[in-house]
Amino acid sequence: MKKIILPLLLACQLLPLQAQTITESDRQRAAGLVSQMTLEEKIDYIGGYNEFYIRAIPRLGIPEIRMADGPQGVRNETQSTMFPCGIAAAATWNRDLIYDYGRGLGQDARARGVRIMLGPGVNIYRSPLCGRNFEYFGEDPYLASETAVSYIKGMQSEGVMATVKHFAGNNQEWDRHHASSDIDERTLHEIYLPAFRKAVQEAHVGAVMSSYNPVNCRHMTENKELTVDVLRDRWGFEGIFMSDWNATYSAVGAANGGLDLEMPCAIFMTRENLVPALRNGVVSERVIDLKCRHILQTLSAFGFLDTARDNDGVSLRNEFSDEVALNVARESIVLLKNEDKLLPLRKARSVVVTGPNAGSIPTGGGSGFVNPFFTVSVAEGISSGDPGMKIDVIHSDVHDKENESIIRRADAVIYCAGFNSDTEGEYADRTYELPGDQSEEINSVSAMNPNLIVIVNSGGSVRFSSFEDAAKVILMSWYPGQEGGHALADILLGKISPSGRLPITIERRLEDSPSYGSYYENVNRSHRAGTHQKRITYMEGIFCGYRGYDRMDIEPRFPFGYGLSYSDFEYSDLKIRRTGKESCKVTLKVRNRGGCDAFETVQLYVGDMECSVLRPERELKGYKKVFLEKGQECRIELELGREAFAFYDVNTHDFIVEPGQFSIEVGSSSRDIRLRGQLVLR
Ligand code: BGC
Repeated sequence: MKKIILPLLLACQLLPLQAQTITESDRQRAAGLVSQMTLEEKIDYIGGYNEFYIRAIPRLGIPEIRMADGPQGVRNETQSTMFPCGIAAAATWNRDLIYDYGRGLGQDARARGVRIMLGPGVNIYRSPLCGRNFEYFGEDPYLASETAVSYIKGMQSEGVMATVKHFAGNNQEWDRHHASSDIDERTLHEIYLPAFRKAVQEAHVGAVMSSYNPVNCRHMTENKELTVDVLRDRWGFEGIFMSDWNATYSAVGAANGGLDLEMPCAIFMTRENLVPALRNGVVSERVIDLKCRHILQTLSAFGFLDTARDNDGVSLRNEFSDEVALNVARESIVLLKNEDKLLPLRKARSVVVTGPNAGSIPTGGGSGFVNPFFTVSVAEGISSGDPGMKIDVIHSDVHDKENESIIRRADAVIYCAGFNSDTEGEYADRTYELPGDQSEEINSVSAMNPNLIVIVNSGGSVRFSSFEDAAKVILMSWYPGQEGGHALADILLGKISPSGRLPITIERRLEDSPSYGSYYENVNRSHRAGTHQKRITYMEGIFCGYRGYDRMDIEPRFPFGYGLSYSDFEYSDLKIRRTGKESCKVTLKVRNRGGCDAFETVQLYVGDMECSVLRPERELKGYKKVFLEKGQECRIELELGREAFAFYDVNTHDFIVEPGQFSIEVGSSSRDIRLRGQLVLR
C-alpha cells in the first residue's frame, strides 16, 4: 500500500501572498482612513451589501470585498471543489493534510475573487442530532483546535481570510434564533471556546462570525462579556467580528456589544437607527470608528486595500484542490466494523451497490452545500480501481425478484446509507434514525446476502443498533466530497488501509449521550417568565463526549479516537521527561507488526489525579499520525506544555495548573490505552 504524496510541483505552487498579522502600520492606515470618512460613510460601512460583500468607498480608494461560504468548498454562484466536510477533515487527525485542505480552499477562493471565506466552523459536537455537525470538527476541544489552526493557517497562507464560526455555543440547529445555550463559565472555556481562542491566538484568524443563538440569554452580536471582554480583551483579537446572516437583533445593543459588521446588510446598523442614538449619547462615535478600524486594519493586513482581486492567476479547476480532496477523503473514512475480515475485498469478483446514496456521493445541506464540477460514486470508484469487477447498481426496490437474485448471487453487497442535503443540514436538527426505511432495508438485504457492507454518510452518529448486526462491515464515510467514490474504493479494494479515527463517541443508545437530558429546551421552564427565549442548560458541563462516558462509566459502542486498520501496531518504551516546570516530553516506539503498510494515529491523554475540582479522567492533549511500512518501527515524540495540565479556575477567571500527579496515557483510542505513565508537577 502506498502513501499518496502530492506532486511536489502542485504542492509548491502559489506561494503565500502576504503575512496577515495586524501591525502598527495597518492600525495607523485604518485610523487615517476612518478620519477621512463622514459619519454617514462610517455607518454605511458597518453594514454588508449585496449579500456577500463589504462595500467599497471609491472616494478613499477602499475596494469592495467579496465573501463566500463556506467550510468545505466555495459556494455562492459558483461550481468548485467539493472537499470532504469538516467532521471528515477532523477524522483524518492529520495536521499537514488539513493545512493543504485550507490551502486548496484558499486557492479556489482566489480563483473566484473571494477575499473572505466563511469557514471553518468549530462548534463542538454535543449531540448527534445537531444538523450542522458535519461542518464542524467533532467533540473534543483539542482536536477541534488543532484542526482549525491548520485549516486557517493553510487558507490564510494563500492570502485569503478565514472566518471562524459560529461564536459561540451553536451546538444545535433547533430554533436557533431563540434557544439560549446556557453554559457555565468553566465549561465555556474548557470545551466550547478553545477552538475559537486558538484560531485567534495561534492561527491569527482574520474574522470571527457570531452564532444565531444567544449564550446565557444574551445574543452574541451584543454579548459584550464574550465578544469584548473575552474575544478582544483577553484573547487580543484585532480582526473583524461579523454577524451571522441576520443574526443581529438590535441597533444600540449590537453597536455597544462588540459587533463590527452586520451581515448580509444593515437592518439595525442603519443611519436611521444610529444617528439618533449618537445624538442622544447612547452610542458614541468612537464606538463606530472602532468598528470601521477593525475592518480596515484587517483588510490592510491581508493586502486587500492594495491588490486587485481578480488577477492572481489561479484557475477555476484546480488540480491541487482535487488531489487534496481525494487525500482527505482517503484518510477520513473510519472502518467501524470488519467481521470475518470481509475487507479488503481481495477475492470478490462481483458486487452489488445499492441504497439511497448509491447513485452519487451526497453532501450536507444549507450554507455548507457545494456545487461540484464532478463527483465520483462508489460504483464508479470501484470500476476504476478494479476494471475486472462485475458491478450491478440497484436503484429500484431490493425486494424485486430480479434484484433479489442479483443480490443473492453477488460476492458482496455494498449498501450506501445515510443522509443528504435534504435530510441533514443547516436550519434544523436531524433524526437519529437513518432516514426512511433504510434500516429495515439493510436488514432485508442482509438476509439475502450476509456479505453486507454498509457505508454511512452523515455528520455523526446514527442509531447503529437498528442495523449493525445485519452488516459485516460498517464504514463511516461522513460526507467525503467529490472524490468519495475513489477513496472508498481504495479502502474496499485494499489499495490503502483505512486510517480515519472517530472525532466523536458513538453511543450504544442515544440515551447514553451525556447531553441527552438537556439537549433541547430545559424541562424546568420556571425561569423563562417574561422572555421569548428558550433555554438549553448544558447540564453535563465539562463532561461532554468521551469525558462524560468515562465519568459515568458507560461503555460506548465505538469510542472517541477509534478506527480499525488492515494492519496492527505495537506500542512500547514509553518515556516521560520533564522539560520545564509545567512541561514534558513523551516518547514511545510504535511498530507496524501487521501485514501491510498503514497509518497509525497515536493519541496522548492526560488526567489530573490530584485536584481541588472535578476533572475528566482523561483528556486528549497530543496526537501524531504516522505512516509505517510493514515491519517498520519509529519513535514518536510528543510535547506537553502548560495547557495540557491546566483547568479553568472560575475564581481567577483563568487557566491554572495545580501541582500533583498526572496520568499520561498513550493509546490507539480513548478506550484502548496501550501505555501508561505518570508525571508529578511540583
Ligand atoms: C450560516 C452561516 C453562513 C451564512 C452565509 C448562515 O445561514 O449560519 O454559516 O456563513 O449563512 O451563507
